[in-house]
Amino acid sequence: MIYILSGAGLSAESGIETFRDGGLWDRYDISDVCSAQGFEKNPELVNNFYDRRRLELKNVRPNAAHRYLASLEERFEVIHLTQNVDDLLERAGAKRVIHLHGKLTELKCLECGEVFDIGYESSKGRVCVKCGGDNLRPNVVFFGESAPNYRYLYSIKASIFIAVGTSGRVLDIADIAKGYGNSLLINPKREKRVTMFGEFDEYIDEYFTLFIQKRATEAISDIEEVLGNLRRL
Ligand SMILES: [Zn+2]
Repeated sequence: MIYILSGAGLSAESGIETFRDGGLWDRYDISDVCSAQGFEKNPELVNNFYDRRRLELKNVRPNAAHRYLASLEERFEVIHLTQNVDDLLERAGAKRVIHLHGKLTELKCLECGEVFDIGYESSKGRVCVKCGGDNLRPNVVFFGESAPNYRYLYSIKASIFIAVGTSGRVLDIADIAKGYGNSLLINPKREKRVTMFGEFDEYIDEYFTLFIQKRATEAISDIEEVLGNLRRL
């Protein structure tokens, strides 16, 4: 089993804007559009924001790294946990994808809890497919909310843990890597370890067996080599 945890860096190469490193952060206040309080204050602003993100998603395509990571399912047992709310891994052909922070193509009914997919369309004028209510929100995890799928983070029995395109600032990937004899980190930058206890004077990559300091699309042959060696063990 291969456990792959992906973050914004994987989809950034497809042109998906991220909050870090400029981009969306410059134009939106994250507490307005990504928090439960923001949604309560102005649900229309939040829904409009996610309507635009959904439309953007329609117009981007999976990149070579999405396609490669998805194709691993043909040769190995693979489970993808992703922090990304886009569906690019699925569009690249991945079957086993768990979204830790929800999914952009889905809405959630605040009356009955139903979650349903609207593809890349606007949420305007939509009603719940189950109860007909119009009190809907994007099915994404806002800051400060609990993320039920985090229960999978530490429960996967895999022979290798691969973290790709995640800075480790949202999830403590160093702590997850500790639980695996083989672990691989792919990220263009070295990142300091930051947890809820503050910033540590150490780098995340020190916790991984191997660190490939590249973008995901440039690391494909390196990953292939690591998996080849693993098979020979
Ligand atoms: Zn409903």
